[in-house]
Amino acid sequence: MLRTIRSTLTLFNSIAIIAVCAAVLIFSLKVHERLYLEAVKSDLDGLSENMSADMVQLLAAENQDPFSITTTLLRLDRYTHVKFAVVFDGEGDIVQVYAGSLINDDDLRANLEGDLSPYFKLGTSVMDNELVAYKLVGDKQFPLGHLLIVNDVAQPLQTSKNELLSTVVPLTIIIVLLGVLASLWLNSQMLRPFRQLARLASKIKKTNDYSTQIDVRGKSEVRDLTSEFSAMMKTIFATDSKNKAYTEQLKEQGESVKYLANYDVLTKVPNRHHFMEILGDSLNQAKTSNTDPALMYVDLDGFKDVNDTYGHIVGDKLLVKASERIKALLSDGEQLARLSGDEFLVLINGTPSIEYLEQKALGINHSLAREFKVDDWEINISASLGVASASSAQFEYTHMLSNADIAMYHSKLDGKNTATVFTQSMQEKAHRNTIIIHSITNAIKHDEFHLVYQPKVGKNKQVVGFEALIRWIHPELGFIPPDEFIGIAEKSGKVSEISQWVIEQCCKDLPNLLNKFGKHVVVSLNLSSHDLKIKKLPSEIKSMFARYNISPASVELEVTESAYLENFEEAKQFFEEIHCLGCKIALDDFGTGYSSLSYLTQLDINTLKIDKQFIDKLGIAERDTLIIQTIIQMAKQLNLTICAEGIEEQAQADFLVNEGVQQIQGYFYAKPTKAEELLDDGFSLSNV
Ligand code: C2E
Ligand code: CA
Ligand code: CA
Repeated sequence: MLRTIRSTLTLFNSIAIIAVCAAVLIFSLKVHERLYLEAVKSDLDGLSENMSADMVQLLAAENQDPFSITTTLLRLDRYTHVKFAVVFDGEGDIVQVYAGSLINDDDLRANLEGDLSPYFKLGTSVMDNELVAYKLVGDKQFPLGHLLIVNDVAQPLQTSKNELLSTVVPLTIIIVLLGVLASLWLNSQMLRPFRQLARLASKIKKTNDYSTQIDVRGKSEVRDLTSEFSAMMKTIFATDSKNKAYTEQLKEQGESVKYLANYDVLTKVPNRHHFMEILGDSLNQAKTSNTDPALMYVDLDGFKDVNDTYGHIVGDKLLVKASERIKALLSDGEQLARLSGDEFLVLINGTPSIEYLEQKALGINHSLAREFKVDDWEINISASLGVASASSAQFEYTHMLSNADIAMYHSKLDGKNTATVFTQSMQEKAHRNTIIIHSITNAIKHDEFHLVYQPKVGKNKQVVGFEALIRWIHPELGFIPPDEFIGIAEKSGKVSEISQWVIEQCCKDLPNLLNKFGKHVVVSLNLSSHDLKIKKLPSEIKSMFARYNISPASVELEVTESAYLENFEEAKQFFEEIHCLGCKIALDDFGTGYSSLSYLTQLDINTLKIDKQFIDKLGIAERDTLIIQTIIQMAKQLNLTICAEGIEEQAQADFLVNEGVQQIQGYFYAKPTKAEELLDDGFSLSNV
């Protein structure tokens, strides 16, 4: 760029110098021409004036002397540029002619024979390329004749010009050359700081090093420009440094954001989002390579208790250790990820056999069931595993995850600390469960639930109470057993909605039942273990009783053994509040769980319900008969009312009544029946 500027400047300067010189030269030539003409004109004027004066005498003579006239004319010999001269007498006739060296005879003759009148202009003047002097000889009053001198002016003028040019042109050329050189030097001097700047700019462009600085030199404008440039460079350097630092920071942030977005901070394994990408890629690859990868869903059992008991910090450390244990069992091509909370996933690429998967799952089960040492605690947990193959999910990753989850859920139902391989029937079940979960809230709104009441019979075969049992005729699925939907509702957190509906419906039916069967009758309601965790439930029951004018003494709440064992302290508190309210409490399904007799002494309960399982074995196994007798004896000592459920035969009823059981409940006397039917006059117990 600067080179172009320099060449352009030099070119312009040279043209300007040449133009100026040419103009001066042309002007000089013009001036020279004018001065030359003026000089020769005045010379000729003087000469012709003198000669015409000298001619006066000669023409005035009576006998004109041609010799004298010629002699006078010969004075013109000294003037090499005179073409010719003519002396005219008073009549205008030619008296004498003079021919200069420039003209030959023919030309002279042609001139003289031609028209001379254009020359007859008194004085000295320039005509075409000739200088003409036409002078009067004699006085105006006494003209004697005229003298005409025609001088060539073109050729001498040209000669003179040539002489001038021969001296001036070399000088001009020297001036031009000197001028161009001077211009070149000046330009280079002038552009030197710019060249420096340009070199610097190019260096910065190559190195990107904005810290480079330059000397500030040169004329004030250039110096200003240079120092401005320097200042600008400093600003760019500062901004560039800042930008670099910022970019670095952004890069670091970007990397940590990327890490956070893809990895679980606690266990450092891929998180759900990243694992889904890994799984998606793996399934795409599996489709083309005809492999069938498997997914393992690992859900820790009882992890919530660890958090509740030891706190979240210990819980987090346990998760890290658990993930390390799983990782230690994985081979190449097997990827661990944390799905959420206490759920992990393991992707097993290739086509693992069922045996391999079972082995792997068993290994994980064993590993996680080993005691964990966290801080000073020794913690025992286990894990429920679900395994699903890609082909079982048509190689669709969300489907595969859902299948593994369903299988894991079966492991939970199977008592935990186990692994289950997914089958299609599990999915149908899971699909049904999903429908059930989504229908519960609507079922309450649309009045799809109803209650049935199963009578409890006393030793005199009179009705002493009823157990309220819920029924649901689903518009799509038809009758759904309460065992099924209560369990699903518990797991989906919807059981309390159902319990509230049951309590309210029972409050509506209770007065009629008491009216018909007597004020001594107690109606039992089943509560779920989840209800015990709802702190405000006792007060809600209280206000419900108040609204429907129910005496709490007519209501008993049935709670399973496992429900209170799940959270003993919470359950104890709940039972106390219910007792304060004036309701009774029955321990349901006694004997099916842990049958923790020691707890019975600590709980404030009224009734013990012996489960149907034991009743079924009455008279079959002596051992079971003995267990029932022991339970009854113990309940009597604890002053508990005993209710036996699932009585289907006379012998069972007789035995239990004989042992001192106060309440008998079973199909033998009555199936769970709608309130309208119970209230109907036609209702009666069977076998009484
Ligand atoms: P549960 O509380 O042990 O109820 C007794 C179950 O045994 C009832 O089944 C009842 O119909 C059945 N049963 C009673 N006598 C006999 C008999 O002689 N033979 C046979 N084979 N069965 C008998 P159901 O109504 O299907 O209820 C099943 C379970 O569902 C209940 O067991 C209870 O745990 C739960 N459930 C029922 N209604 C409710 C409710 O309103 N709320 C809650 N939370 N759970 C309920
Ligand atoms: Ca019950
Ligand atoms: Ca029961």
